[in-house]
Amino acid sequence: MKKLIAANWKMHKTQAEAQATAADLITRVPNLPDDREVAIFAPYTALAACVAGLGGREGFATGGQNLYPAEQGAFTGEISAAMLKDCGCSHVLVGHSERRALLRESSAFVGEKAVFALKNGLKVVLCVGETLEERENGKLEAVLREQLEKGLQDVPNNVTADELGIAYEPVWAIGTGKVAGPAEILEAHALIRKLLALRFPIQGNALRILYGGSVKPENTKQILALDNVDGVLVGGASLDAEMLSKIVLS
Ligand code: PEP
Repeated sequence: MKKLIAANWKMHKTQAEAQATAADLITRVPNLPDDREVAIFAPYTALAACVAGLGGREGFATGGQNLYPAEQGAFTGEISAAMLKDCGCSHVLVGHSERRALLRESSAFVGEKAVFALKNGLKVVLCVGETLEERENGKLEAVLREQLEKGLQDVPNNVTADELGIAYEPVWAIGTGKVAGPAEILEAHALIRKLLALRFPIQGNALRILYGGSVKPENTKQILALDNVDGVLVGGASLDAEMLSKIVLS
Protein backbone atom coordinates (compact mmCIF):
# COMPACT_ATOMS: atom_id res chain seq x y z
CA MET A 1 0.00 0.00 0.00
CA LYS A 2 1.21 3.51 -0.81
CA LYS A 3 2.16 5.84 2.03
CA LEU A 4 -0.52 8.49 2.43
CA ILE A 5 0.69 12.05 2.96
CA ALA A 6 -2.33 13.92 4.29
CA ALA A 7 -2.45 17.69 4.74
CA ASN A 8 -4.89 19.22 7.21
CA TRP A 9 -5.31 22.89 6.37
CA LYS A 10 -7.76 23.41 9.26
CA MET A 11 -9.35 26.90 9.19
CA HIS A 12 -6.71 28.41 6.90
CA LYS A 13 -6.68 29.69 3.33
CA THR A 14 -9.06 31.62 1.13
CA GLN A 15 -10.05 30.19 -2.25
CA ALA A 16 -7.23 32.02 -4.02
CA GLU A 17 -4.66 30.91 -1.45
CA ALA A 18 -5.84 27.30 -1.60
CA GLN A 19 -5.70 27.18 -5.38
CA ALA A 20 -2.25 28.79 -5.45
CA THR A 21 -0.84 26.45 -2.78
CA ALA A 22 -2.23 23.34 -4.48
CA ALA A 23 -0.91 24.46 -7.88
CA ASP A 24 2.49 25.30 -6.36
CA LEU A 25 2.61 21.86 -4.73
CA ILE A 26 2.10 19.93 -7.96
CA THR A 27 4.71 22.09 -9.68
CA ARG A 28 7.18 21.25 -6.94
CA VAL A 29 6.33 17.53 -7.19
CA PRO A 30 6.44 16.89 -10.95
CA ASN A 31 6.87 13.15 -10.38
CA LEU A 32 5.03 11.72 -7.43
CA PRO A 33 6.93 8.61 -6.26
CA ASP A 34 5.04 5.37 -6.96
CA ASP A 35 4.77 4.59 -3.27
CA ARG A 36 3.13 7.92 -2.35
CA GLU A 37 -0.40 9.31 -2.37
CA VAL A 38 -1.41 12.82 -1.28
CA ALA A 39 -4.72 14.07 0.16
CA ILE A 40 -5.35 17.71 1.09
CA PHE A 41 -8.10 18.34 3.64
CA ALA A 42 -9.12 21.92 2.90
CA PRO A 43 -11.79 24.15 4.47
CA TYR A 44 -15.22 23.81 2.82
CA THR A 45 -15.08 27.17 1.05
CA ALA A 46 -11.72 26.30 -0.52
CA LEU A 47 -12.43 22.70 -1.57
CA ALA A 48 -13.26 23.43 -5.20
CA ALA A 49 -10.30 25.82 -5.42
CA CYS A 50 -7.99 23.14 -4.07
CA VAL A 51 -9.34 20.65 -6.62
CA ALA A 52 -8.75 23.23 -9.37
CA GLY A 53 -5.21 23.90 -8.16
CA LEU A 54 -4.37 20.18 -8.18
CA GLY A 55 -5.54 20.10 -11.80
CA GLY A 56 -6.59 16.44 -11.75
CA ARG A 57 -3.01 15.23 -11.18
CA GLU A 58 -2.96 11.52 -10.43
CA GLY A 59 -2.18 10.67 -6.84
CA PHE A 60 -3.35 14.04 -5.46
CA ALA A 61 -6.79 14.15 -3.85
CA THR A 62 -8.92 16.64 -1.95
CA GLY A 63 -10.96 15.94 1.17
CA GLY A 64 -13.30 17.60 3.63
CA GLN A 65 -12.33 18.02 7.28
CA ASN A 66 -15.70 16.80 8.53
CA LEU A 67 -19.21 15.82 7.42
CA TYR A 68 -22.63 15.35 8.97
CA PRO A 69 -24.06 11.81 8.85
CA ALA A 70 -27.33 12.55 7.04
CA GLU A 71 -28.30 12.95 3.38
CA GLN A 72 -29.66 16.48 3.85
CA GLY A 73 -31.97 18.39 6.15
CA ALA A 74 -32.18 20.79 9.06
CA PHE A 75 -28.55 20.67 10.16
CA THR A 76 -27.51 24.31 10.18
CA GLY A 77 -23.84 24.85 9.57
CA GLU A 78 -23.16 21.25 8.60
CA ILE A 79 -22.06 19.69 5.31
CA SER A 80 -23.14 16.46 3.61
CA ALA A 81 -21.21 13.74 1.82
CA ALA A 82 -22.95 14.68 -1.43
CA MET A 83 -21.86 18.31 -1.03
CA LEU A 84 -18.25 17.27 -0.46
CA LYS A 85 -18.34 15.06 -3.53
CA ASP A 86 -19.98 17.86 -5.50
CA CYS A 87 -16.88 20.00 -4.75
CA GLY A 88 -14.63 17.24 -6.07
CA CYS A 89 -13.71 15.54 -2.79
CA SER A 90 -12.85 11.87 -2.62
CA HIS A 91 -11.80 11.86 1.04
CA VAL A 92 -13.00 13.04 4.43
CA LEU A 93 -11.41 13.40 7.86
CA VAL A 94 -13.46 12.37 10.89
CA GLY A 95 -12.78 12.61 14.61
CA HIS A 96 -10.00 15.17 14.58
CA SER A 97 -9.05 15.92 18.19
CA GLU A 98 -9.94 19.58 17.74
CA ARG A 99 -13.51 18.59 16.90
CA ARG A 100 -13.63 16.02 19.69
CA ALA A 101 -12.44 18.67 22.20
CA LEU A 102 -13.95 21.94 20.94
CA LEU A 103 -17.22 20.54 19.55
CA ARG A 104 -17.53 17.66 22.01
CA GLU A 105 -17.82 15.00 19.32
CA SER A 106 -18.08 11.56 20.89
CA SER A 107 -16.43 8.44 19.52
CA ALA A 108 -19.86 7.02 18.70
CA PHE A 109 -20.75 10.13 16.66
CA VAL A 110 -17.40 9.94 14.89
CA GLY A 111 -18.26 6.33 14.09
CA GLU A 112 -21.60 7.36 12.60
CA LYS A 113 -19.76 9.82 10.38
CA ALA A 114 -17.26 7.20 9.25
CA VAL A 115 -20.03 4.74 8.36
CA PHE A 116 -22.04 7.38 6.52
CA ALA A 117 -19.03 8.65 4.57
CA LEU A 118 -18.03 5.14 3.48
CA LYS A 119 -21.58 4.32 2.47
CA ASN A 120 -21.55 7.43 0.31
CA GLY A 121 -18.29 6.58 -1.41
CA LEU A 122 -15.89 8.84 0.47
CA LYS A 123 -12.53 7.53 1.70
CA VAL A 124 -12.17 8.08 5.42
CA VAL A 125 -9.25 9.03 7.65
CA LEU A 126 -10.41 8.54 11.24
CA CYS A 127 -8.31 10.35 13.86
CA VAL A 128 -7.58 9.00 17.32
CA GLY A 129 -5.19 10.02 20.08
CA GLU A 130 -4.76 10.70 23.75
CA THR A 131 -4.28 13.92 25.70
CA LEU A 132 -1.18 14.48 27.80
CA GLU A 133 -3.19 13.91 30.97
CA GLU A 134 -4.52 10.60 29.67
CA ARG A 135 -1.00 9.50 28.70
CA GLU A 136 0.44 10.50 32.06
CA ASN A 137 -2.31 8.55 33.81
CA GLY A 138 -1.48 5.39 31.88
CA LYS A 139 -4.65 5.53 29.81
CA LEU A 140 -3.16 5.34 26.31
CA GLU A 141 -4.50 1.89 25.51
CA ALA A 142 -7.92 2.54 27.07
CA VAL A 143 -8.35 5.76 25.10
CA LEU A 144 -7.33 4.23 21.77
CA ARG A 145 -9.55 1.22 22.45
CA GLU A 146 -12.60 3.39 23.20
CA GLN A 147 -12.06 5.62 20.17
CA LEU A 148 -11.47 2.70 17.80
CA GLU A 149 -14.12 0.32 19.16
CA LYS A 150 -16.87 2.94 19.03
CA GLY A 151 -15.53 4.61 15.92
CA LEU A 152 -15.33 1.39 13.91
CA GLN A 153 -18.22 -0.53 15.43
CA ASP A 154 -20.55 -0.29 12.44
CA VAL A 155 -17.97 0.10 9.70
CA PRO A 156 -18.51 -2.68 7.14
CA ASN A 157 -16.39 -5.74 7.89
CA ASN A 158 -15.08 -5.76 4.35
CA VAL A 159 -13.78 -2.17 4.35
CA THR A 160 -10.55 -1.89 2.34
CA ALA A 161 -7.23 -0.15 2.96
CA ASP A 162 -8.07 2.23 0.14
CA GLU A 163 -11.30 3.25 1.89
CA LEU A 164 -10.26 3.56 5.53
CA GLY A 165 -7.15 4.80 7.30
CA ILE A 166 -6.52 5.66 10.95
CA ALA A 167 -4.50 8.70 11.98
CA TYR A 168 -2.81 8.47 15.37
CA GLU A 169 -2.46 12.02 16.63
CA PRO A 170 -1.38 12.43 20.25
CA VAL A 171 -3.15 15.63 21.26
CA TRP A 172 -0.06 16.89 23.11
CA ALA A 173 1.93 16.76 19.85
CA ILE A 174 -0.53 18.68 17.68
CA GLY A 175 0.57 22.19 16.85
CA THR A 176 2.96 22.20 19.79
CA GLY A 177 6.22 21.51 17.99
CA LYS A 178 6.54 18.46 20.28
CA VAL A 179 6.78 15.43 18.04
CA ALA A 180 6.21 12.04 19.65
CA GLY A 181 9.46 10.07 19.89
CA PRO A 182 10.02 6.86 17.90
CA ALA A 183 9.28 4.67 20.93
CA GLU A 184 6.00 6.48 21.60
CA ILE A 185 4.93 6.23 17.96
CA LEU A 186 5.90 2.55 17.75
CA GLU A 187 3.97 1.73 20.93
CA ALA A 188 0.79 3.53 19.89
CA HIS A 189 0.84 2.25 16.32
CA ALA A 190 1.38 -1.32 17.51
CA LEU A 191 -1.60 -0.97 19.84
CA ILE A 192 -3.73 0.40 17.01
CA ARG A 193 -2.58 -2.41 14.72
CA LYS A 194 -3.57 -4.97 17.36
CA LEU A 195 -7.03 -3.38 17.74
CA LEU A 196 -7.49 -3.19 13.95
CA ALA A 197 -6.54 -6.85 13.56
CA LEU A 198 -9.11 -7.78 16.21
CA ARG A 199 -11.83 -5.71 14.56
CA PHE A 200 -10.97 -6.69 10.97
CA PRO A 201 -9.43 -10.19 11.08
CA ILE A 202 -8.84 -10.30 7.33
CA GLN A 203 -7.58 -6.86 6.37
CA GLY A 204 -6.70 -5.31 9.75
CA ASN A 205 -3.00 -5.66 9.03
CA ALA A 206 -3.37 -3.86 5.71
CA LEU A 207 -5.25 -0.76 6.88
CA ARG A 208 -3.05 2.32 6.92
CA ILE A 209 -2.07 3.97 10.19
CA LEU A 210 -0.86 7.57 9.80
CA TYR A 211 1.09 9.51 12.40
CA GLY A 212 0.19 13.16 13.04
CA GLY A 213 1.66 15.73 15.40
CA SER A 214 4.27 18.35 14.51
CA VAL A 215 5.43 16.50 11.38
CA LYS A 216 7.82 18.63 9.31
CA PRO A 217 10.25 18.08 6.44
CA GLU A 218 13.10 17.36 8.87
CA ASN A 219 11.40 14.48 10.71
CA THR A 220 9.17 12.88 8.05
CA LYS A 221 11.65 10.35 6.68
CA GLN A 222 12.47 8.98 10.13
CA ILE A 223 8.79 8.75 11.08
CA LEU A 224 7.76 7.07 7.82
CA ALA A 225 10.46 4.44 8.31
CA LEU A 226 8.95 3.21 11.60
CA ASP A 227 7.00 -0.05 11.79
CA ASN A 228 3.27 0.33 11.26
CA VAL A 229 3.58 3.92 10.02
CA ASP A 230 1.83 4.06 6.66
CA GLY A 231 1.66 7.80 6.21
CA VAL A 232 1.53 11.13 8.00
CA LEU A 233 -1.15 13.71 8.73
CA VAL A 234 0.36 17.18 8.69
CA GLY A 235 -1.14 20.40 10.01
CA GLY A 236 1.04 23.50 10.28
CA ALA A 237 3.80 22.43 7.90
CA SER A 238 1.28 21.56 5.19
CA LEU A 239 0.20 25.17 4.73
CA ASP A 240 3.36 25.98 2.84
CA ALA A 241 3.76 24.32 -0.58
CA GLU A 242 7.53 24.12 -0.33
CA MET A 243 7.42 22.40 3.08
CA LEU A 244 4.60 20.10 2.01
CA SER A 245 6.46 19.12 -1.17
CA LYS A 246 9.52 18.20 0.91
CA ILE A 247 7.32 16.06 3.17
CA VAL A 248 5.72 14.36 0.16
CA LEU A 249 9.17 13.58 -1.27
CA SER A 250 10.77 12.51 2.05
C1 PEP B 1 -3.20 18.12 12.86
O1 PEP B 1 -3.88 19.03 13.28
O2 PEP B 1 -3.75 17.18 12.30
C2 PEP B 1 -1.75 18.20 13.05
C3 PEP B 1 -1.08 17.09 13.02
O3 PEP B 1 -1.20 19.44 13.27
P1 PEP B 1 0.37 19.82 13.35
O4 PEP B 1 1.08 19.09 12.24
O5 PEP B 1 0.43 21.29 13.19
O6 PEP B 1 0.85 19.35 14.69
